[in-house]
Amino acid sequence: MVLIEVPLTEFSLIERYFARQQAVNTSTVLGIGDDCGLLSVPPGYQLAVTTDTMVEKVHFFADVDPWSLGYKLLAVNLSDLASMGAKPIAITLAMTLPEVNEPWLKSFTDGLFALAGQFSVDLIGGDTTSGALTLTLQAMGLVAKGKALKRSTANPGDLIFLTGSLGDAGLGLKIKQGYHCTSPESALERFDKPLPRVSEGLKICDYATACIDLSDGLLADLGHILDQSNVGAIINFSDVPLSTEVKKYIAASGDWQMPLIAGDDYELCFTVHPQQARQLNIACCQIGVIQQEPGLRLFKSGVQQQISVKGFEHFS
Ligand code: ADP
Ligand code: MG
Repeated sequence: MVLIEVPLTEFSLIERYFARQQAVNTSTVLGIGDDCGLLSVPPGYQLAVTTDTMVEKVHFFADVDPWSLGYKLLAVNLSDLASMGAKPIAITLAMTLPEVNEPWLKSFTDGLFALAGQFSVDLIGGDTTSGALTLTLQAMGLVAKGKALKRSTANPGDLIFLTGSLGDAGLGLKIKQGYHCTSPESALERFDKPLPRVSEGLKICDYATACIDLSDGLLADLGHILDQSNVGAIINFSDVPLSTEVKKYIAASGDWQMPLIAGDDYELCFTVHPQQARQLNIACCQIGVIQQEPGLRLFKSGVQQQISVKGFEHFS
């Protein structure tokens, strides 16, 4: 008997790879299959919406592990919800694919659904088209009315906190590019599989004054809080938490600025009024203080440092 390979149609593709997960979130009224998904927003809540696109050769290379790509596409969007203090409920996915590569699609959606399941997020719709590989994910979350954490509301005197260590993802990228490191596993894991700080975002919502997630590096992202809040800040390098591996990298290379500039850490950077600091209910470190005078002043060993670096910008 000769088996003839039947090319997958757009609809069987959707059925096989995107509609395979049962809806689990109580906000989902209608999932994949109709012209729109339907979400219910409980009284007293607002819908937080964010979207991120990943383009081949810009955000990843053709040989990237598709599982990690699916995971990370969702992780970066959930991180945006986390930084606003929103609880993720649902996502939509727009995929432009150069070809139908089933093992690739299986692995990509496995990575995506692994993280979606962890946060009870439903894939409720999307679009599938052919063309140069481009992946766009939109994530939606719930936040109590007026409670969303913004970039524009930091005040002079507020203390600046970070949820975790910096530079690990940056080191992971350097390792991928050929840097030799005796124990590369944790840095590579941080680069490929960042854990969005969703539970931390929800916990700081009641007392933090401003918040941002670190996708482009601390200096660039904290800079957004400072610009939008019309304030400045002082930070001390010695207060920035660094992993053993990142410390070793700095000792070997002298490149101490890397953890402040490198992107992809997806930690939260947030500000708190000093009188609210005793409310802190998550693991975090204070790295500095918001000041009235605009600009970011970075001190290392008591000496103010020149900083001119900015994060990655498209079209520049
Ligand atoms: P329409 O033509 O009405 O936009 P489509 O034919 O594009 O609908 O898609 C059919 C259904 O499959 C819709 O519910 C759509 O949201 C869903 N869908 C299409 N592509 C994807 C995808 N990549 N991920 C999730 N759902 C998808
Ligand atoms: Mg469509």
